[in-house]
Amino acid sequence: MPNTSNDRTADQPGNAQSTGAPMSPGDEAPDGTPGTGHDVCPACGGSGKVGGATCSECNGTGEVNVGIGGA
Ligand SMILES: [Zn+2]
Repeated sequence: MPNTSNDRTADQPGNAQSTGAPMSPGDEAPDGTPGTGHDVCPACGGSGKVGGATCSECNGTGEVNVGIGGA
């Protein structure tokens, strides 16, 4: 029986992210930082893809965490 270690599904694109503060290159702050929130990634417009490839700014999530001063 060759199948022994495949019980985890990859729910994140790219490398596995440990718990804590996963950040994409386009993020201004770690997720959960007060005064910040998710916004549509300006690089891919929320599609998560640029030119057919995974957006490098949001890691394909289509969102980035940016400061939301509200001012
Ligand atoms: Zn993006």
